[in-house]
Amino acid sequence: MRNDRPSGLRPGGQAVDARGAAKEVVRRMGLEEQVRAVCTRTAGAYAVDADGKVLETFRADADGGDGYIAEIEVLRGDLSRVLYDDTRGDVAYVFGDRIAELTQDADGVDVTLARGGRRRFDLVIGADGLHSELRSMVFGPRERFVRHLGMVLAFFTVPDGFGLDGWARDHNDAGRSAGLRPLPDPTRAIAMLSFPSSAFNIDHRDIETQKRLLREQMAGFGWETARILEHLDDAPDFYLDQVAQVVMDHWHLGRVGLLGDAAFSASPMSGAGSGLALVGAYLLAGELAAAGWAPEAGFTRYEERMRDYVAANQEIGRMHVQMLTSAEPAPEPDMESLTALIERAVGGPELPDYDGVADSRLDRHPDS
Ligand SMILES: Cc1cc2nc3c(=O)[nH]c(=O)nc-3n(C[C@H](O)[C@H](O)[C@H](O)COP(=O)(O)OP(=O)(O)OC[C@H]3O[C@@H](n4cnc5c(N)ncnc54)[C@H](O)[C@@H]3O)c2cc1C
Repeated sequence: MRNDRPSGLRPGGQAVDARGAAKEVVRRMGLEEQVRAVCTRTAGAYAVDADGKVLETFRADADGGDGYIAEIEVLRGDLSRVLYDDTRGDVAYVFGDRIAELTQDADGVDVTLARGGRRRFDLVIGADGLHSELRSMVFGPRERFVRHLGMVLAFFTVPDGFGLDGWARDHNDAGRSAGLRPLPDPTRAIAMLSFPSSAFNIDHRDIETQKRLLREQMAGFGWETARILEHLDDAPDFYLDQVAQVVMDHWHLGRVGLLGDAAFSASPMSGAGSGLALVGAYLLAGELAAAGWAPEAGFTRYEERMRDYVAANQEIGRMHVQMLTSAEPAPEPDMESLTALIERAVGGPELPDYDGVADSRLDRHPDS
C-alpha cells in the first residue's frame, strides 16, 4: 500500500496569517510571543502594473494588523514548528504513517495504520487538508465535497533578485496573476502565480505536466513573470493545485470529526485558511471537553459555533477568485455589506472561555 507521508515536520511552505479571532486563539494558547518571533515581517504589498509601476499600497500595520497583508504572517512550516514544540511533551506524534482502515462502533474507533499498527481511540479527528483521505474514507468521495473555483494556483521559492526589500508585489491582469512575497531570509522569495481554468484533473504527483501547464498559461504575462519562471526547474518546493473549497453539511459522523481544510477549506484566496483551522481547533477541543467528551453534543456545538465564520470566509474566497478571473471590471461593491462580511470573516465566532472545563483524558489514555 502506498505510504508517502512525510517523515517529519515540513519546513517552509506558503505564508499563512492569523487575524482577529485567530490572533485571540494564538494568545489564549500562550503562543503569541513564539508566533511573533517567527513572523515574516512583511511590511506590506504593492499592487503593480505590467511595468512594475505601483498602483496601490497595502500596509501590514493598516486595519489593526488584520488587513490584506496581516501583521501576523508566518510560514506554514514555522507555525507547525511552534505548535509542535508546544505540544510534543503531551502528545504522541507519529510521522510517516497514515490511516489505512477505520471502523467505528458506539464506544470507539478502530484504526489500522498503513505500517500495520492497530489502535482503538475514543475519537478520530481528520485534519489532513483539502484532499483529506479520512474524509473520503468516512464521509464519501472528494467530488461530493470539493468545489473547484475555476482557478489554478502555483507557488515556489525563488532567489530574491527582485529587490523586494520586505514588500510583497502583486500583478493582476485579465484573469491571471503573478506575485512575490518576501521571506525572513532576504536572499529568497516566494513566487505565486495563478490563472483561470474551468477544470483541473492533473495528478498531484505529475510535477512535469504541472510545470508545463504553468509555463503555457503564464506565457506572455507581463511584469517579472518571465524571470520568475526561469527558476521553475530549480524550485525546491514547487506546488500547483486547483483553488477549491470544501462544502459539507456535517463535519462529524459518529466518533469521527473533521477540522481545517479537510472540513471547510475556504481556499487560499480567502487568506483565512490557517485562521479557520486554529479557531476550529480551539472550539472543537473546548466544546468536546465541555460536553464531557460526548461526541454528538461536542461536535454539534463546534459546528454551530463555526458555521457562520466559515460561510463568511468562503464567500470572501469566492469573491476574490471572481474578481481575479473575471475579464470584466468588477462592479462597485456595496460597501456596507462588504464591511459587514469582513467583520464576520475576521472577527469570527464568540470564543467561550473554557477555563475550568476538565479538558484532558490523558490520564486514561497515556499511550494515545
Ligand atoms: C498557495 C497557498 C497559499 C495560501 N495562502 C494562505 C494565506 O495567505 N493565509 C492563510 O491563512 N492560509 C493560506 N493558505 C491556506 C492554508 O495553508 C490552509 O488553509 C491551512 O494550512 C489549513 O490547515 P490544515 O491543518 O487544515 O491543513 P494542511 O495545512 O493542509 O495540513 C494537512 C496536514 O495533513 C497531512 N496529511 C495529509 N494527508 C494525510 C494522511 N492521509 N494521513 C496523515 N497525514 C496527512 C499533510 O501532510 C499536512 O501536514 C494557502 C494555501 C496555499 C496552498
